[in-house]
Amino acid sequence: MNCAQCGGRLSFNELGLNKKFNANGSACLCKRCLAEKLGVTCCRLDEKIEEFLESGCKLFVRA
Ligand SMILES: [Zn+2]
Repeated sequence: MNCAQCGGRLSFNELGLNKKFNANGSACLCKRCLAEKLGVTCCRLDEKIEEFLESGCKLFVRA
């Protein structure tokens, strides 16, 4: 799966982010493009991944 905006390859965690934050889900975005769309920084999304990992969410893996 590739980013609908920049064409970059999506990692497992980026797909997870799309499931969590890109709810209409029509187009999967990489972390950078998703952050832009959500109006947050990439760092913030990394923090969210960390939070989801700690809550045991199976949509994410440790890098
Ligand atoms: Zn992208």
